[in-house]
Amino acid sequence: MFDVNRIRKNFPILEEKIYGKPLVYLDNGATTQRPLRVVEKMTEYYLRYNSNVHRGVHYLSNKCTDANEQARETVREFIHAESTDEVIFTRGTTESINLVAYTFGEAFIREGDEIIVTEMEHHANIVPWQMLCERKKAVLKVVPFNDKGELDMEVFRGFLNERVKLVGVAYVSNVLGTVNPVKEMIDAAHAIGAYALVDGAQAIQHIPVDVQVLDCDFFAFSGHKVYGPTGVGILYGKRNLLEQMPPWQGGGEMIKEVRFEKTTYNELPFKFEAGTPDFIGVVGLGEALEYVKSIGLQEIAEYEHGLMDYAMKQIREIPSIILYGDAVNKSSVISFGIEGVHPFDLGTLLDKMGVAIRTGQLCAEPVMQHYGVPGMARASIAMYNTREEIDIFCEGLRKIEKIFKL
Ligand code: PMP
Repeated sequence: MFDVNRIRKNFPILEEKIYGKPLVYLDNGATTQRPLRVVEKMTEYYLRYNSNVHRGVHYLSNKCTDANEQARETVREFIHAESTDEVIFTRGTTESINLVAYTFGEAFIREGDEIIVTEMEHHANIVPWQMLCERKKAVLKVVPFNDKGELDMEVFRGFLNERVKLVGVAYVSNVLGTVNPVKEMIDAAHAIGAYALVDGAQAIQHIPVDVQVLDCDFFAFSGHKVYGPTGVGILYGKRNLLEQMPPWQGGGEMIKEVRFEKTTYNELPFKFEAGTPDFIGVVGLGEALEYVKSIGLQEIAEYEHGLMDYAMKQIREIPSIILYGDAVNKSSVISFGIEGVHPFDLGTLLDKMGVAIRTGQLCAEPVMQHYGVPGMARASIAMYNTREEIDIFCEGLRKIEKIFKL
């Protein structure tokens, strides 16, 4: 049984007081909190086993190496990849997408080719493709969304032709909360011989992911958005593609033999892991995923779904609220404004009530342009949030309405 009070006990930060008020943390889309066991596991490794991985013959190095490879297996199982060779440790979603844009781009993109993204992408799933298009004289196509925050699938289908080489799409939008029809888009990409990358940064903590069922060619996510540490993330890629892609960064670990005449490269996944990784962060990520698994993503998803319904119902009743993103299939993120109030003021006033939300352009300037606003306020939930916290948040919004005499 999902027991939110028991889960909250695993997150000491949730007992903090902000200006004497209980913390209501609703900035989970930016980063989630870490449970005690993740911090303890990392502390244990720093204090007892710290040693560089994959290099040493000694006990500590082997201990850390084993823990890292065990974490890779935990990730493999979590996303149901076929092999750990397909699980590459990176610094986060941003680095994972850049890696693909660079190396897949090197091997597969030619002048005149097309890459499709959507209007609701995070900058991390726009700019690397723009840079690639500039390098290769390729063309970026953008699938628009309607005011409810749903992709225009007609336009998407109209874009599909033999010049398209890759479709890049967020599973869940970090601004609109829309759960995109990624499976449909992946299948459509494959039908014309293109590949598909899923930005899973806002999905991995809310939706059970099976990369083999999705059949995506690449899947990217960050540890810190799934109750793990910062500085570590994952790129999943299908083996046959990863094998055809050249390495990205050169250095230690990614090589087989180094000669001045010619260097040969390591096997997967190490070919893409140059230099010393954040090996204790990797252990922390494995622990975070074990923790999530112990609660169950299906249970988490159901709980969060109920919480979202509860929040959306209340927030809709606030007269001056403007909601951005009202897709039928919506998860975890509520972006909004209040008529006549700058989002920065909204965030600052809520902060004084102990409520942490995000404001600004949310790393998605095209979404701001779509609605013609300079910024938004965003509340984003995690498995440890409660109905009482939603009440405090909505009560805060009603107080702000009164302050501004709306
Ligand atoms: N994509 C999406 C949808 C995101 O929400 C984020 C983080 N806000 C990113 C990519 C980038 O993640 P990171 O900064 O951890 O690399």
